[in-house]
Amino acid sequence: MPDPLSVLVLGSGGREHALALALARDPGVAQVHVAPGNPGTAEVATNHPVNPLDGAAVSALAQRLGADLVVVGPEAPLVVGVADAVRAVGIACFGPSAAAAQLEGSKAFAKDVMEVAGVPTAASRLCRTADEVAAALEEFGAPYVVKDDGLAAGKGVVVTSDREAALAHAAGCERVVVEAYLDGPEVSLFAVTDGRSVRAMQPAQDFKRVGDGDTGPNTGGMGAYTPLPWAPPDLVEEVTRRVLEPTVREMAARGVPFSGLLYAGLALTSRGLQVVEFNARFGDPETQPLLARLRTPLGRLLHAAATGTLGEEPELEWSDDAAVGVVLAAGGYPGTPSLGGTVTGLDAVAGTGASVVQAGTADGGDGTVVSSGGRVLTVVGTGSDLAAARAVAYAGLERIGLQGSFFRHDIAQQAALRQAQGASTA
Ligand code: AMP
Repeated sequence: MPDPLSVLVLGSGGREHALALALARDPGVAQVHVAPGNPGTAEVATNHPVNPLDGAAVSALAQRLGADLVVVGPEAPLVVGVADAVRAVGIACFGPSAAAAQLEGSKAFAKDVMEVAGVPTAASRLCRTADEVAAALEEFGAPYVVKDDGLAAGKGVVVTSDREAALAHAAGCERVVVEAYLDGPEVSLFAVTDGRSVRAMQPAQDFKRVGDGDTGPNTGGMGAYTPLPWAPPDLVEEVTRRVLEPTVREMAARGVPFSGLLYAGLALTSRGLQVVEFNARFGDPETQPLLARLRTPLGRLLHAAATGTLGEEPELEWSDDAAVGVVLAAGGYPGTPSLGGTVTGLDAVAGTGASVVQAGTADGGDGTVVSSGGRVLTVVGTGSDLAAARAVAYAGLERIGLQGSFFRHDIAQQAALRQAQGASTA
């Protein structure tokens, strides 16, 4: 492994700012570059105005910078083969090939891999006609789950008890997966893999609905926390054995080894754990609190995964602290967010012990930061338990001003209560 490493991160969201922060903390990393990045990444790394979807431009930038490692943040560059383009010029890349990224890009592909690998997931039917969809809805019953087979940036899935709405969603797709409804709490478990070895991270939970009490429309995620005091203690071991390892083995057996970040979205149902979905990259906003707790140097870990030497690396190390991330969203999100408002108070957050991870922000000139996306930033708090971490995160949020913006007030609230109750009865 080159020491110290020069790393180029692709993307411009909260996930990428969190990655850049963790890489900058790694004593084995000398330089962090981001393309294109945001005003937050500019504080800890060097931003480059290069389109992360342009494999040739990214490869040329990585060569010019003498990068030892490229880390692909979002799914879109993976699906168009940017990781393949980087590897083709002889630079290590953390992120799967376009072929392996189908695990996220195609619901039908993911279902097939899971079936062959014996991974627990909802029963499903791949449908191409309205008649097939109607038959599958009948077979599984309400609530109906209808998924567009293609990559749809989180908008391709409809869960509804309204049969007409389920049919209408399916009518807008070329190929759809209809599947059985999974009840029970959802958990995100990320794993770093080099295509053979797997290092599972700690479980996290995110909050998809826009409003307090899980009300309102779905979003990209309004907050997340880790660890999960209510989850079974052997969850990571069970997911590794029943989900992550069989999936990685099956991908290798197909000749499309998956290296990078394998994200298992899980439902802990009354009949045991089931996979809801796979993603091929770090999740946003779970990455923000997760990386706040990771003690293992991130650059070395991702480089080992990108070069097939993960098996030689030690198990991951975590802080015992809890971490809570709360998203500040622009007014109107997730519909049409109002953009261009000035974000104030960013420097004042440090005084609360919280940290700011920027996402939909842009340079407003004269040292100002303005909103440029629906999810503007995440404030991350850490503490000895979830209640303490929540208090830090919300104290940090109070310092930030952005006209019309809002955030959820109940991120990790129930889990913090359960943790406190568990501690008082233990
Ligand atoms: P996906 O893109 O497959 O993760 O689906 C997005 C969201 O839809 C998930 O996070 C779940 O909340 C929900 N969902 C997906 N599949 C199911 C299912 N079989 N049963 C219940 N909810 C589901």
